[in-house]
Amino acid sequence: MKLALTIAGSDSGGGAGIQADIKTFSAHGVFGMSVITSVTAQNTRGVIGIEDISPEMVSLQMQAVFEDLYPDAVKIGMVSSGGIIGAIADGLKKYGPRKVVLDPVMISKGGSYLLKPEAMNALKDKLIPLSLVVTPNLMEAEALTGMVIKTPEDMREAARKIIGLGAKSVVVKGGHLTGDALDVFYDGHKFYEITSERVNTRNTHGTGCTFSSAIAANLALGYDLIESVKRAKDYITGAIKNSLDIGHGVGPTNHFW
Ligand code: PLP
Repeated sequence: MKLALTIAGSDSGGGAGIQADIKTFSAHGVFGMSVITSVTAQNTRGVIGIEDISPEMVSLQMQAVFEDLYPDAVKIGMVSSGGIIGAIADGLKKYGPRKVVLDPVMISKGGSYLLKPEAMNALKDKLIPLSLVVTPNLMEAEALTGMVIKTPEDMREAARKIIGLGAKSVVVKGGHLTGDALDVFYDGHKFYEITSERVNTRNTHGTGCTFSSAIAANLALGYDLIESVKRAKDYITGAIKNSLDIGHGVGPTNHFW
């Protein structure tokens, strides 16, 4: 059995965060584990409360997982604060996992801060250099680079800049541009463009979480990086196509169809 770990926030509504990650791992036949960074009170309508877990407890969860079960791949999502980021970075340095997928989660679709603005530099300085692949959406890529991104060429330029921050590779997700859903993957040497048809649905809650945990699941299964990204793109496209019209707001991606 392959093992994957998510280090992320809890979404009580089950659509994003830890819950989406573990469903994604299960759908790939990978055993899922979690280090919870923050608890959000949330549903399809939005986030109504956030309470962070202490950095000490984040460290202890990492210790518990790495000293016994040791994951084949790690996905990092909502990290919330500078203190939590420091604890995660220390744990990654101590235990040394190589397959680390970083989804630089910043703001929820409803506008709640999932990363405190003052923690942005800690994310850049401490977590990006420890990651095998970083998966920003356009807004996150803009925040990381200071650019305004409007075209695929802008996406490639942002990818170069994010590699300049110390990431080994990056996927800039263009789902928020118009036309086909184009993602740009760059490993510092070569660009790959990965496209899929655009799916028209409002139910896209948890797409970023699902995509990054699908990359981690495929890495855990032993696929190489570009193959893992392509397979994750196919998976997220299916998960959006089959997304669920539940609740009263933005429904979640579907992991089993
Ligand atoms: N809540 C948590 C705990 C998350 O980790 C994320 C992840 O990106 C979100 C919410 C964002 O969800 P949405 O896809 O609705 O922006």
